[in-house]
Amino acid sequence: MTMKHFIISGFLLAGILASCGGPKEAEGNDAADTVDSIAYTPLQTDQIEKFADLQILQYDIPGFHQLSLDQKKLVYYLYEAGLSGRDMIWDQNYIHNLEIRNALEHIVANYSGDTADANWQQFMTYTNRVWFSNGIHHHYSMDKFVPDFSREYFDGLLSETGATLTATVVDKMFDNTADMKRVSLDGSKDLILGSACNFYGDNITQEDVDNFYAERMAAAGNHPVEFGLNSRLVKDEDGNVTEEIWKADGMYGGSITEVVKWLKLAEGVAENDEQGKALGLLVEYYETGDLEKWSEYNITWSQATEGDIDFIQGFVEVYGDPVGMRGTYESIIQITDFDASERMAVLAENVQYFEDNSSIMDEHKKAEVVGVSYKVVNIAGEAGDASPATPIGVNLPNSNWIRAEHGSKSVSLGNIVMAYSNAGGEGILREFANDEDEIERSIKYGEIGSKMHTAMHEVIGHASGQINEGIGTPKETLKNYSSTLEEARADLVALYFLLDDKIVELGLVESTDVGKTEYDDYIRNGMMVQMRRLEPGAVIEEAHMRNRQLVASWAFEKGQAENVVERIERDGKSYYEIHDYDKLRVIFGDLLREIQRIKSEGDFEAGKALVENYGVQVDSDLHQQVLDRSASLNIAPYNGFVNPILTPVMDEDGNITDILLSQPESFQAQMLYYAENYGFLSH
Ligand code: ZN
Repeated sequence: MTMKHFIISGFLLAGILASCGGPKEAEGNDAADTVDSIAYTPLQTDQIEKFADLQILQYDIPGFHQLSLDQKKLVYYLYEAGLSGRDMIWDQNYIHNLEIRNALEHIVANYSGDTADANWQQFMTYTNRVWFSNGIHHHYSMDKFVPDFSREYFDGLLSETGATLTATVVDKMFDNTADMKRVSLDGSKDLILGSACNFYGDNITQEDVDNFYAERMAAAGNHPVEFGLNSRLVKDEDGNVTEEIWKADGMYGGSITEVVKWLKLAEGVAENDEQGKALGLLVEYYETGDLEKWSEYNITWSQATEGDIDFIQGFVEVYGDPVGMRGTYESIIQITDFDASERMAVLAENVQYFEDNSSIMDEHKKAEVVGVSYKVVNIAGEAGDASPATPIGVNLPNSNWIRAEHGSKSVSLGNIVMAYSNAGGEGILREFANDEDEIERSIKYGEIGSKMHTAMHEVIGHASGQINEGIGTPKETLKNYSSTLEEARADLVALYFLLDDKIVELGLVESTDVGKTEYDDYIRNGMMVQMRRLEPGAVIEEAHMRNRQLVASWAFEKGQAENVVERIERDGKSYYEIHDYDKLRVIFGDLLREIQRIKSEGDFEAGKALVENYGVQVDSDLHQQVLDRSASLNIAPYNGFVNPILTPVMDEDGNITDILLSQPESFQAQMLYYAENYGFLSH
C-alpha cells in the first residue's frame, strides 16, 4: 500500500512526511520509516506553479547518469509503459472524464482570445485542477469541482474552438447535485450507488457485488487472488452480473496493448533473471487478465531484490473503489538511491561504535548490534494513480498471504521526499529562524543534515538498545505510548551522534556544523513550525509530531537554568536560539538514556508522563502565531509533480545510444504532450 495515498503539505502533512510506517500505520502497515526528519526547512525550488489549492513541483533523478546504457533503457521502457496506461485511470475515476478532458485540451490548444480575461483564467484553473486530479473530482477530498465560469462561457469556448462535448456531459460538469463524490464512504447509503467512480455499471449495488464474489471467495482457500482487481462489474437487463476484464483483448485493450509492448522491451534488458521473469509474468497477466498470473507476478516481484531498478506497474491500490476491490492503474519507476545506500552502509558497518558510545546505561546496550536495513529509492517516472500527486513511500504487494509467505518490499521515495521538503521553501526558514547565520548555515547544510538524521535514525537508532529479561514487548508494556517513545528514542540517537566527530571521521559529513544545523532545525520545528499542520484548538495526536515536541520541549526546559536554548520575542514573534550546542547534546543524551530505560524496563507510568507532559498539549497562543505566520507565506496545501522528460538518443540504425533528461516547460505543456502521445483510449 502507499504510505499516504496523497500528499498534503498543509495541516495533514503531519502524519505523512513523518513516518515510521506512514500514516497508514494505524491500519496495520508496519512499513519501514519514511522520513523521520522533517526538521529541515529548506529552499525554494526554482519552479513552482500554483492554482487553487494545488502546487506543481519538479523532481530530479539523482543517480540516473550512473546507470549503464541497458539500465537507462530499462528505465525508459518502463517509463513509456507507465504513461501508455495513463488514460485508464481517467476512465476508472469517472465515466465522462476522458470526453471532458479531450474537450478541455482541445479548447486550450485552440483558444485565440485574451489569456488575461478573468473567465479564461477561471477556465484554466478548472482545467489544471482536472489534470491534477485525473478527472473532475478532487484527488483527495473526492468532491466534484463545479466550474467557477458560467455554462454560457463554456458553451462559447466549445463552439469557438470547435470542441465537441455532448450536452448531457456538460450538464454533469455544471450540475451541483449529480455525481458529486467519486468515492463515497457514507455507510448510510449504498456505497456503490453513492459513488461516481466508474468501477461498476449502472444499477450495480453492494449486494450484487457480495453475491457475485461470495462463493468465489469461499472456494478460494488460503491463497486467494485479489478478486475484482482488474475488472469493471456490470449488470445486463436480465440482472446477470459479469466482469468486464481489463486486458489486452478486453476492456482498456487500447492502452494495455501499448503497455505490454513497452514491458516486453523492458524484459529484454532486465538486470537479472528474477526481474525479467517478473516482467514476463506481468505481460502474461495483462494479456490474459488472469489474476492467478498477477499473484505469480507479485511473488516473483517481491523476491526480485537484486537490481538497481525497480517498478510498480498495474492495477494496484484499491482506495478508489468504495468497496475496496478494484485496482486503480499506477506506474512508478525507481532507481536505487546510491548516495543514501552508501551512507547507510557506512553507518551499518560502524553500528557497534555508536552502541558502545551511546549515552544509554551499559546494561541496556547490545553486545552485538546489527544495523536496521532501510531502502531509499529515487523516482524516475510516475503515471496513473501516482501522478501528478504521489506517495512518498510504498509497501507492496498488498496481498496478505503473499506478504506473509514470500515477503514484501518497502521503499521511501527519496527524491520526492526531498522535493516536498524543499517545497516549503526558504520562506518558512526565513520566517522562523532567529538570525541570518542560522539561515545561511541551514541553506548550506540543511539537506545533508536532514538526510543524515534520517539515516542515523533508521540504521543505528531503531537498532540500538535491549529490553531487560522478562519484560514484554514495548507494545505490551508501553501500549499506546510505545510508538511515540520509540520514535523519540531513534531521533535522540541520531541527534546525539550528529555532533560526534566520528561521523566526520567516517567521511559522512564535512564538519559538525551539519549537526548544529540539524539541532537548529529540530528545535525550531519541534517548538513551533510543525504546529502549522494542526487545526486551531487541536492537540497533537500523531506519534512523530508528539515525539518531536517531546524531545524539543523537554530539552528546552532542562536547559533553561543555563540558558542552553533561549526563547526570544521580537516584534510580536517568537524565535528559539541555541546558545550552547554541546550542552544541548548532553541534554539529548540524558533524555535518550531515560527513554531507553523506560523501554528496557517497560516503565509505563514514566513513559506516559513524558509523552503527556511534553508531547501532546500545544501552547495555543504560540500555535495561533505559527498559523498566522505560515498563512502569510501562501503555501498551497496539496502538491503534485511533473515528470522529468526522458528522451532517447538514436544512432543511424535506430539503436538507442543514450537517454537524455530534461524538465518540461510547464505543467500544461506536459499534460498536452501526454494527451497527444498517450491518448490510447480517447482517440
Ligand atoms: Zn522511526
